[in-house]
Amino acid sequence: METDGSGAVDRVPTVDLVLCSGCGRCVAACSAKLITLETARFHKNAVIRNPERCNCCGLCVKACPVAALL
Ligand code: SF4
Ligand code: SF4
Repeated sequence: METDGSGAVDRVPTVDLVLCSGCGRCVAACSAKLITLETARFHKNAVIRNPERCNCCGLCVKACPVAALL
């Protein structure tokens, strides 16, 4: 995803469910508290709830250690 150097992103990030390990760093990082961890098929994944409230700050993208938020 392109950024402008501030870390901001140009659209609401999406979670790559294959890459996401469910570590929860993005949950802690989200300034708007939009991200939760949910279990699907015995694997925890990040889910962005209420994406219309996302301010595209990019903090979740920066926080993810495996680049699962793009
Ligand atoms: S871009 Fe910012 S507001 Fe949007 S989900 Fe990520 S951390 Fe939350
Ligand atoms: S920081 Fe990345 S790997 Fe960790 S829960 Fe969020 S999307 Fe998944």
